[in-house]
Amino acid sequence: MTQKPEQPVEGGLIAEGKTKIIRATAQDPEQVLIQSKDDITAGDGAKHDLIEGKAALATRTTCNVFRLLKACGLPVAFDEQVDAKTFLAPRCQMLPYEVVVRREAHGSYLKRVPGLAQGHLFPKLLVEFFLKTSGKKWKAHELLRDDPLMEYAKGAGTISLYEPSKPVYAQKPFLVLEGNEVFARADEWKLFPEIQKIARRAFLVLEKAWQLEGRTLVDFKVEFGLTKEGTLLLADVIDNDSWRVLENGSYIDKQAYRDGGKLDDVAEKYRRVASVTDHFRLPLQQVIIWRGSDKDDVTPVAKALEQLCGGAADGPRLKITTATCSIHKEPVRGLNELHRLVQEVPDTVVIAFIGRSNGAGPTLSASTTVPVITVPASFKDFPEDVWSSLRTPSNVPVATVLDPSNAAMAAIEILALRNPQFYMFLREQVEERLVNSIPV
Ligand code: 5GP
Repeated sequence: MTQKPEQPVEGGLIAEGKTKIIRATAQDPEQVLIQSKDDITAGDGAKHDLIEGKAALATRTTCNVFRLLKACGLPVAFDEQVDAKTFLAPRCQMLPYEVVVRREAHGSYLKRVPGLAQGHLFPKLLVEFFLKTSGKKWKAHELLRDDPLMEYAKGAGTISLYEPSKPVYAQKPFLVLEGNEVFARADEWKLFPEIQKIARRAFLVLEKAWQLEGRTLVDFKVEFGLTKEGTLLLADVIDNDSWRVLENGSYIDKQAYRDGGKLDDVAEKYRRVASVTDHFRLPLQQVIIWRGSDKDDVTPVAKALEQLCGGAADGPRLKITTATCSIHKEPVRGLNELHRLVQEVPDTVVIAFIGRSNGAGPTLSASTTVPVITVPASFKDFPEDVWSSLRTPSNVPVATVLDPSNAAMAAIEILALRNPQFYMFLREQVEERLVNSIPV
């Protein structure tokens, strides 16, 4: 009989905020229990209500989100949900920043860049840091306001704080702090690029997850922490208070509460969001690399797939299947094999890596509804080989790509339409080359 894992037992209180309580566990000093509360607040606590059941909805949403982020290989402070309102997480020393990622201009950004239309799109994600403060104080310093926008100046090692509700270009920082007044460790600033990378990646994963549910994630706020060993983790929670999500142009998140929505309507939105996030998951997908002979060396395609998907290539969610069959010589066996493989994993793309006449690519394409990309493997020696897959008859929608790594990328792009992790990998690369144009 397998032993039931031990349920974590509550230890002492570590911290209590407006919407959650952090407790130690009695068993392990390096684990904490994070329990949500029914409270909903806005405007730094100026507006406050209770929504019965919100705690359970918040925990359910965070657990759904964190499970997906972890499945995508992101470092997240999440172990498991332990009851309706509570999840278990590695204990972290929290960094005092709110990291906001934006795909569209909403909320405070519109105050910093007035004149920008709400919903203005940023093809390259914006990342901003806000210093987490309360009581308009940071250590001995009085602040103009809480949660100011912060900018770290690498050369000077200083942190400038700005009023976040006014144009930044029209203000001087209201306070400039020395690094050691903010950082718990001297080299904390070195974490900033990694924080940005993880925050962007998490956004991309959730952006796709929401797209698949027919809604639009426009921005979110995340926080980070360091474990005892110094590992950086995306920590705290990501729930319906943390983001803005549009459904038919309307917010279904906490913005509805900030904008004065009726509590019942707000509660209904929180319920809807929790149940939509129940669907967040990675699909099971497959790339079939089809070769006409065991003499065809498919290494260039396999290598490119591995490079694109990192550890996910031939992992539990992406099968990479090499099928070997000449469609000229054994058409019946070949097509049966194709149908069997697609029956097993319907969410499949075929890359036909085949030399010489390459009738296989078009024939496979004509016999299935999954996309077939063909790479004329011998085109370098015999460029005329490409014609066998270019001028195809009607209803033979094979795509011909010469470069094996482009073929691999095209296959992953097709899978990424339904796969938050592949979308994250591809979009991250593309965004490195993009520039936002902000009309002024
Ligand atoms: P903004 O800066 O436009 O007000 O907010 C940007 C994003 O961060 C929004 O998705 C908003 O919900 C989230 N956000 C900003 N401040 C906080 C905060 O103090 N707590 C939480 N949970 N989310 C925040």
